[in-house]
Amino acid sequence: MEKTYRYRFYPTLEQETLLRRTIGCVRLVFNKALAARTEAWYSRQERVDYVQTSALLTLWKKEDDLQFLNEVSCVPLQQTLRHLQSAFTNFFAGRAKYPNFKKKRNGGSAEFTKSAFRWKHGQVYLAKCSEPLSIRWSRHLPKGCEPTTITVKLEPSGRWFVSLRIDDPTDKRLQPVDKSVGLDVGISSLVTLSTGEKIANPKGFDKYYHKLTKAQKTLTRRKKDSRNRDKARLKVARIQAKICDSRIDHLHKLTTRLVRENQTIVVEDLAVKNMVKNPKLARAISDASWGEFVRQLEYKAKWYGRTLVKIDRWFPSSKRCGNCGHVVERLPLNVRSWNCPNCGTHHDRDINAAQNILAVGHTVTVCGASVRPDGHKSKGQLRKTVQGKKQKPKS
Ligand SMILES: [Zn+2]
Repeated sequence: MEKTYRYRFYPTLEQETLLRRTIGCVRLVFNKALAARTEAWYSRQERVDYVQTSALLTLWKKEDDLQFLNEVSCVPLQQTLRHLQSAFTNFFAGRAKYPNFKKKRNGGSAEFTKSAFRWKHGQVYLAKCSEPLSIRWSRHLPKGCEPTTITVKLEPSGRWFVSLRIDDPTDKRLQPVDKSVGLDVGISSLVTLSTGEKIANPKGFDKYYHKLTKAQKTLTRRKKDSRNRDKARLKVARIQAKICDSRIDHLHKLTTRLVRENQTIVVEDLAVKNMVKNPKLARAISDASWGEFVRQLEYKAKWYGRTLVKIDRWFPSSKRCGNCGHVVERLPLNVRSWNCPNCGTHHDRDINAAQNILAVGHTVTVCGASVRPDGHKSKGQLRKTVQGKKQKPKS
């Protein structure tokens, strides 16, 4: 099974210079190739593919003013063209937006495949570096595993990370259990479970947010292209990194717990970007980073032999009474609890939704993906993901 282990590392001065230059070249090649592909399409309606951009790279390396491209490892430059290719594949398949140009202030990354690094005595030697990377090994790689690909990443906050991709042959499947759970994105809480449990954001989250807003205000007041603006930007990036760390850590603990405790987990397949448009929801949803949450559940379910079921996002999980199936017309976002006009049951909005999601998930696992929930006029289809395997929606 393919896994990625991520560590912080501290480059030497020499390594930092080389890596910054490599990342700069990666950015340049990516942007030039993207410009070439865009131009070819808009002015001549021609499609440029990976092979052609690769040929372009060979030409660029011969140009006088681009000689510096030869001073870094060629592997990350080739890899970025491959990444651009998959960005276009995703765009043409309707899964992603048109690729954007890379910006220096967003940091960047460089991917090294087997031929561009050495793995010796548990140390990483990158191409053109004499010393190994000084990695902070926060946890061990699985026994006998060697990295197949290494990605070096520079964050906007200035921190360096290295990701090691490995093939782990160990079977981590757990004993089956008979519990299952439905999850709903909370508005007031992060996630609500069908058991009635509500999970809050990590501690100290609001404090960081307060700091972030202040730092962002300072940033907007600073003059463009000034030294102070760079400083302010770094400060914002550092706070954002802290928020991101605490969120990811929180999500990892939560997803591991949910996957260990339950055989089947049912979630709504939300299009996060659609939800973020609603300003009231924006904070809760983007904080919760539902996409990352589902991604973690997906791969952990696969590791541990559990089932993740994703149900259609247009299923009226909040508006449907879990007791009698009555669907109310309207349920504004500020309504935290309500009484069913048909059977009189009192519902907590989020818990009722999570229970509905679980109920639909059961129908899906028992009867297959084509079944619609009982009787109501849902427009969407149900999608089923078994142990992380994605099935395309029927069109
Ligand atoms: Zn009812």
